[in-house]
Amino acid sequence: MMNKPKKLSRSKIRIKKNDIVEVMAGRDRGKTGKVLRIVEEQDRLVVEKVNMIKRHTRPSPTTGQGGIVEKEGSVHVSNVRLVCPKCSQPTRIGHALSGDGKKVRICKKCGEMLEG
Ligand SMILES: [Zn+2]
Repeated sequence: MMNKPKKLSRSKIRIKKNDIVEVMAGRDRGKTGKVLRIVEEQDRLVVEKVNMIKRHTRPSPTTGQGGIVEKEGSVHVSNVRLVCPKCSQPTRIGHALSGDGKKVRICKKCGEMLEG
């Protein structure tokens, strides 16, 4: 067997918290939402109002009446695409160096920097 050169094991996740993503697969395909949380070890994201799962809760003094609570479940990073805040299109993320030598993410569609 041939040994393939190993890629640098940097995190595959280029998407960050508060990015807007479009869901590409599953029951919420086509939906867009804000990234609430990144689960880096699993390459998964929690996206606002996407992949909602129902949890049954019991009545308790703190939560008041019991019932069904909806909560976001995570989606795999390969199933979402970033929506560029500048050109509003689903895009891929590239990297570039900014003027002060810092590595920044750029939109591969419009070439704009994605952060601040
Ligand atoms: Zn763009």
